[in-house]
Amino acid sequence: MTDASVRGTTAPPPDPRRAVPRTDAVLADPRLAEAVHRLGRALVKRAVVDAQQRARSGAIAPAEVADVALAALPRTATRLRPVLNATGVLLHTNLGRAPLSAAAREALAVAAGTCDVELDLTTGTRGRRGAGVIDALLAAVPGAAAAHVANNGAAALALVAATLATGKEIVVSRGELVEIGDGFRIPDLLESTGARLREVGTTNRTHLADYERAIGPETGFVLKVHPSNFTVSGFTSAVDPEELSGLGVPVVADIGSGLLTPHPLLPDEPDAAGMLARGATLVTASGDKILGGPQAGLVLGGAGEGADLVERIRRFPLARAMRVDKLTLAALEATLRGPGTPVRAALDTPVEDLRRRAARLAAELNPTLGGVAEAVDSVATVGGGGAPGLTLPSAAVALPERFAAALRAGDPAVLGRLEGGRCLLDLRALDPADDVDLAAAVAAAVTAAGT
Ligand SMILES: *Cc1c(COP(=O)(O)O)cnc(C)c1O
Repeated sequence: MTDASVRGTTAPPPDPRRAVPRTDAVLADPRLAEAVHRLGRALVKRAVVDAQQRARSGAIAPAEVADVALAALPRTATRLRPVLNATGVLLHTNLGRAPLSAAAREALAVAAGTCDVELDLTTGTRGRRGAGVIDALLAAVPGAAAAHVANNGAAALALVAATLATGKEIVVSRGELVEIGDGFRIPDLLESTGARLREVGTTNRTHLADYERAIGPETGFVLKVHPSNFTVSGFTSAVDPEELSGLGVPVVADIGSGLLTPHPLLPDEPDAAGMLARGATLVTASGDKILGGPQAGLVLGGAGEGADLVERIRRFPLARAMRVDKLTLAALEATLRGPGTPVRAALDTPVEDLRRRAARLAAELNPTLGGVAEAVDSVATVGGGGAPGLTLPSAAVALPERFAAALRAGDPAVLGRLEGGRCLLDLRALDPADDVDLAAAVAAAVTAAGT
């Protein structure tokens, strides 16, 4: 920094760094001091430093640092921000997949404190951990006689593989060796448990005889994996669990989505009850896909052998390393017992309702937006590893693409879908109760971005 006093009489150019208030001074602002009390010093200081940076670069005035830092503070002591999912993708992996139901959120509040997760309050002795969620699962899935819950779908499958097939073979069709996202592949996951894969058939066609030839003393189980993020069409053939159940070895069906019973809109999506009825010994699934609950992995077994295997899986040492916490148990149980989930509501909403909401929002926003908002028809998808190829008719508010960044920067943030030079705010994945917040967030973003 140069010293202006040595430069003679001409006024020095204003050095913006001089005027930016020091961190201590900004943190002394009573509003920020209160925030430190609530959120902790690190998060508040980070917001202040960011605001100082912006003041130094000239983006804001030095006098605005405290206000800007305050506005940028997260609502809670986490940097996670709420995001309104206006992408039209019901299960958006980057947005945490399924939004929880109100019942699940209430259950989380109970579990957050100390609770009887592993205590029998009648006798005062240790109780079975997660008994409530197991009962709820058995009630929700006709034909299920036993259940276990692990951290996620991948953990459920790995646990099954480790328990039943370490040092043995998993017989699986070449058409079902899928990558589930972010570079993770089912075959690698299975082999990491010490099981060997015995691949049968071809990418497009696998027959019962292919499985029959591969079965032997080395077989741990036969695996059916639902290709949840792609479809194979054309000259294809796959073997139903019904036929596989006659092979004399356990049949494990990884259905992925967590659909427990059939859904009329998802005719191609396998459901847990259906798979058990058709002879699968065990079914594995995710909790936070179409089931609409927290991240979790389900292992369901039918009566007899399936129930025995679930007990073995539950007792297997690795199960302890994949144990779910009380928050997951509470949210999952409430998801299962409570009224319908937001995911289910998003799936089932008639498109006319969405069109009405889009028209109302566009009409409400246009005075602020100078008439650029337009209600349009749109196409939504399930996403997140469920119902590939399925499209759901939807409706959206279309805005000029240039507002997308300001929408993401808002509070709540709004994530739309960029399409044909526009930013579509698709309403299918969005709770109608959030329309008020959406309208406010859009108005604020447009003001921030300048019309
Ligand atoms: C999503 C999915 C998985 C992985 O489940 P997570 O809950 O994401 O761990 C495994 N198998 C299939 C078929 C899937 O669709």
